[in-house]
Amino acid sequence: KTITTDMRTLTDEIEKFAKDKKIEIDTLKIREEYRKDFLGNVSHELKTPLFTVQGYILTLLDGAMDDKSLRKKYLQRAGKGVERLIYIVKDLDLITKLEVGDLNLEIEDFNILELFQNVFDLLEMKAAKKNITLTFDMDYKNPIYVKGDKEKIQQVITNLLVNSIKYGQQNGTTEVSVENLIKNKVIIRVTDNGEGISKQNLARIFERFYRVDKSGSRAEGGSGLGLAIVKHIIEAHNEKIYVESVLDIGSEFSFTLEKANK
Ligand code: ADP
Repeated sequence: KTITTDMRTLTDEIEKFAKDKKIEIDTLKIREEYRKDFLGNVSHELKTPLFTVQGYILTLLDGAMDDKSLRKKYLQRAGKGVERLIYIVKDLDLITKLEVGDLNLEIEDFNILELFQNVFDLLEMKAAKKNITLTFDMDYKNPIYVKGDKEKIQQVITNLLVNSIKYGQQNGTTEVSVENLIKNKVIIRVTDNGEGISKQNLARIFERFYRVDKSGSRAEGGSGLGLAIVKHIIEAHNEKIYVESVLDIGSEFSFTLEKANK
């Protein structure tokens, strides 16, 4: 009886403590849930490329190594798998920093058109494989100076353009435009005529690890982190990101940036 009483007292104590400290305890619980969820997703994302690489190595050891052309083919594929792993780990590193707010933005004035050109050049080969054209919507004659962390904004544009290629159709087009908005802002749009996103999925695509078609997206590579990274970077700049999309018609991602006083 004594024990029961003591236990009871203890439970009461904990409950009282919990009541007093409700916020802290909830926060801890949420953090724990978040951590579990994150780790679960991370191991899931790493598994596929790891098994792929392992598969090629085992095949090589199993005899494929003795055939010169097979050896090269499997080594190249294993290399691709490792490359994918590196991309995923880099994205994970970045999203972690962005989520804990451990990322200092280096704000400077830069010409956004030059940034587009850099990214177009980097993605030229990737786009050519699907015969996708990357274009500006008009001939900009003068530079357009904006304020932001140039490297991070380049990452945003890269992620959006990579997606427009990945989810774009053969012979498609991706168009990039910059438009003046009120109050010293510009809006940058990336528009494709690809597969589009359904309404119900549209609400979730900015969540980390969320993918519309798991198997399809996986065949295209990626970590399911691209848009989560994009959203974090834009919000870290105190700017806004929007998406509009129609299934089988295409998607338009847009975000705002501050104009530089030049
Ligand atoms: P992933 O690595 O899967 O590309 P993202 O976070 O970049 O991850 O995108 C999340 C999901 O949103 C993608 O899996 C894809 O289904 C959808 N998506 C993103 N961009 C586009 C687009 N331009 N057109 C159609 N679907 C898209």
